[in-house]
Amino acid sequence: MEDTSEKTAAARLRELKAELSDLARRNARASGDIELIAVSKTHGADAIRPVLEAGHRVFGENRVQEAAEKWPALRQAYPDTQLHLIGALQSNKADQAVDLFDTIHSLDRPKLAAALARAMAASGRRPRLFVQVNTGDEPQKAGVSVMDLADFVEQCRTEYKLQIDGLMCLPPAHEAAGPHFALLGKLAASLDMAHLSMGMSADYAEAVSLGATHIRLGTAIFGPRG
Ligand SMILES: *Cc1c(COP(=O)(O)O)cnc(C)c1O
Repeated sequence: MEDTSEKTAAARLRELKAELSDLARRNARASGDIELIAVSKTHGADAIRPVLEAGHRVFGENRVQEAAEKWPALRQAYPDTQLHLIGALQSNKADQAVDLFDTIHSLDRPKLAAALARAMAASGRRPRLFVQVNTGDEPQKAGVSVMDLADFVEQCRTEYKLQIDGLMCLPPAHEAAGPHFALLGKLAASLDMAHLSMGMSADYAEAVSLGATHIRLGTAIFGPRG
């Protein structure tokens, strides 16, 4: 990315989309197969509205409470908006999350799978689900360990009747992301999943080259978070 400080979020987004279609072409991918999630966490409605006005409709938030405060009004104005939950989810917020979000990227434990299954049955809504994988086996980080992944996915599918759309990861901050993206791709293929949520502002190009279908960009669009 070039100097972004003077640009508006809408202008940065336009450039990113052009860059992405170029990246897709160079990687022999269809650009329509790569979903750009504009991560609007910490940014208020005033920062988000211009991006909606520019035509973008896919957004990510990492907290249920924050999304519940910001999005209902914005969504009323832009009803075709798709909201992605990319942050940790407590099982006692499963109902609210199923209500608010179209896709949840952070399914990572049986208790949450059970709560989501219950919330979906009660509401009739079926958000798409990604299982978050702790590819770096970091003790403080959310996500299923690589070792437990296959059993957990099987449990989601058979015991909770959940359809799992793909895998998500957040590589360790101080490591090269590439090996983590490659591992996630291998795991998804072994579990028969078509979607990979990986790549953020610093590493989306590499993620696309390794098969990302959902990239999650905050800073590259909205600038630094306060
Ligand atoms: C904040 C966040 C992002 C976006 O990060 P940027 O570096 O600002 O692009 C992506 N994914 C998750 C899970 C996040 O929490």
